[in-house]
Amino acid sequence: MGERIQSIRGMHDILPEQTSAWHFLEGKARQVVSAYGYQEIRLPIVEKTELFARSIGEVTDIVEKEMYTFADRNGDLLTLRPEGTAGCVRAGIEHGFLHNQQKRLWYIGPMFRHERPQKGRYRQFHQLGVEAYGMSGPDIDAEIILLSGRLWRALGLRNVQLEINSLGSSETRQNYRKLLTRYLSHHLDSLDSDSRRRLETNPLRILDSKNAQTQEILKDAPSLLDALDQPSRAHFDALCKLLDDNGISYRINPRLVRGLDYYSQTVFEWVTDELGAQGTVCAGGRYDGLISQLGGRKTPACGFAMGLERLLSLLETQQLLPPEQTPDIYCLSLGDAARASAMYLMEEVRTAMPGLRITLHCGEGNIKAQLKRADKLGAELAVILGEDELHDGTVVLKPLHDDQPQQSVPQTQLVTKLLTLFKQENRRP
Ligand code: ATP
Ligand code: MG
Repeated sequence: MGERIQSIRGMHDILPEQTSAWHFLEGKARQVVSAYGYQEIRLPIVEKTELFARSIGEVTDIVEKEMYTFADRNGDLLTLRPEGTAGCVRAGIEHGFLHNQQKRLWYIGPMFRHERPQKGRYRQFHQLGVEAYGMSGPDIDAEIILLSGRLWRALGLRNVQLEINSLGSSETRQNYRKLLTRYLSHHLDSLDSDSRRRLETNPLRILDSKNAQTQEILKDAPSLLDALDQPSRAHFDALCKLLDDNGISYRINPRLVRGLDYYSQTVFEWVTDELGAQGTVCAGGRYDGLISQLGGRKTPACGFAMGLERLLSLLETQQLLPPEQTPDIYCLSLGDAARASAMYLMEEVRTAMPGLRITLHCGEGNIKAQLKRADKLGAELAVILGEDELHDGTVVLKPLHDDQPQQSVPQTQLVTKLLTLFKQENRRP
């Protein structure tokens, strides 16, 4: 026997008993994005490494140490996508759907980052993101925030708080960069080593540091919001007003900067204290500079990405996940002739009632063993076709969840009978 091969650390199978939770989350998300007129885009999982280096920023956690990068057989340097925005912009430039247009897009799929695996942090994880192009005002910023808020409500989630901030224009950030660097250089000795290094390369990222001592020092640092230029301030104020008007509460967090370099103006995160250290379930903002940075014509843009594993974990904590799907019908039969007949009958039922979940018993087993299987699967109704039934042209219906008596029904009336049975219970539309 060969040695067993295991999955890669931080990359998990999503098992059959977990997929109904995923469908629940994805289904609600699809409803919400379509309610706002967003169209789905499906993008490759592999892109040229350069795309991420140039968009996310050389001096970020992702590009510095988290990317899965490899040379393919031609020697081209490729990377498993660590996020979705770069690929979306690349596609937009390539297909010309960004310039002089308004586009509302969304995507869903796996992302890859070589991080230390822990609860809520994996090496393959899934994001659902939206991107809106060609709109520069605070209205579209507000729209994507409202959209995400609507999803939490659709899911029934509680205790997810919105934090917002503005990074201002690139001039704002240049000015602020000086202020921050000056302040932090007085505290050099107390900074963590990553932050000390970033003081030279990318000081704003220090605001995002997870180091407690560094965060302590940052408490008295100059505030980004105070450094905003007038148009940026007006944009931010207008966004806050729109959120107020729509009853969305938020906390202004002047230290919120986000882990990617391409953001400008609005940034936001939805956070919860119910998931431990990995409490951010959704993050995004405006990235007006990215498209031209990637060779396209200057186009305003904003978007967000949510971490689906974290949302599922929160749904589970708050006991909001629907029960696993079980068969409506488990169809039992005895003998080859009855099996063939049962298969034919169930095909008819599936045609008449496409919403029903029907499992046909295949293979060996006496009626007792087959009933046991039906029970184990949690089926609601057993449809039984033994030799007698085959002979009489009937089937036996045996409710498995309640103490209702079983009944014999002519095969010709099976569909009519099932239609009333499952309608009465109001289980099917
Ligand atoms: P964090 O600060 O938690 O590392 P990030 O700033 O790197 O997050 P983004 O790149 O903004 O995260 O990704 C958006 C969302 O995707 C996050 O808010 C989170 O919900 C989810 N996410 C990011 N990285 C992971 C991961 N390794 N495993 C699971 N979910 C993740
Ligand atoms: Mg990260």
